[in-house]
Amino acid sequence: MIISGSVQEVRELIGNWKKRGFSVGLVPTMGYLHPGHMSLIERARKENDMVVVSIFVNPIQFGPNEDLDKYPRDMAHDREVCEKAGAELIFAPQPSEMYPSDNFAFVDIKELGDGLCGAKRPGHFRGVCTVVSKLFNIVLPNRAYFGEKDAQQLAIIRRMVRDLNFGTEIVSCPIVREPDGLAMSSRNLYLSPEERKAALSISRSLGEAKELMRKGEKDAVKIRDIITAGISAEPLAKIDYAEIVDSSDLRPVQRIEKPVLAAVAVYIGKTRLIDNFTFEGAAK
Ligand code: AMP
Repeated sequence: MIISGSVQEVRELIGNWKKRGFSVGLVPTMGYLHPGHMSLIERARKENDMVVVSIFVNPIQFGPNEDLDKYPRDMAHDREVCEKAGAELIFAPQPSEMYPSDNFAFVDIKELGDGLCGAKRPGHFRGVCTVVSKLFNIVLPNRAYFGEKDAQQLAIIRRMVRDLNFGTEIVSCPIVREPDGLAMSSRNLYLSPEERKAALSISRSLGEAKELMRKGEKDAVKIRDIITAGISAEPLAKIDYAEIVDSSDLRPVQRIEKPVLAAVAVYIGKTRLIDNFTFEGAAK
């Protein structure tokens, strides 16, 4: 496995692969890899000749009061994970390699980025779209792998790829959870043992909501209230948002008639966690 921080070097390597007719799968990450990331790399391994994992804590997707400086990093561990999962290349550039000081061009997307995390983290999805576009232009992947854990990010990237005619196929992968239900996240590291327990209120409340939908509940406001009440009952939890939105345009719905996304962001102490589920419709 090769590790490189150089755009030029990566372009040359991948150019050679492409000349030999190899397909390339890209897994973009911010590192501190866990089994959620690993599931993406393993899927890419199955579907492509060559697998590239990018590890880059992208400064422009963090707000001024967010955790850019303390975001966890562990290259030695990440290297092991990538090797085990069978990646050929880790692309781990320095911020200066990705963003020259006179960087002018950014990629942005409108409506889909307005609600949910977009409303709470101004500029976040502009940062995500910009870095993903740059990675696509550097790696020229046939396929790129994203987790459903970041459901709004996935919807935005799909739309960006469509609108800007990127030739990359976007592959989505299910949320990987801890045995007790907590969605895996690099940020779970920040949780104290007490907070770790409190964080379970998130997946538990979402699970209850999903069960109600399965039983035929159509009132989105009622479902939202149940999620909110379940999480708020936990003293260490503070809801940033809890929404039931249409899966395709991410606008809030009153009734559950089409596929919906139930998405939450919750502060557990100082740590902001997100989780969600998609509901396609009650079984007939
Ligand atoms: P991150 O390093 O947090 O930017 O995540 C990189 C990619 O891994 C994104 O596409 C995430 O959606 C995905 N991911 C993160 N956590 C999980 C998880 N628990 N299950 C599935 N995918 C995940």
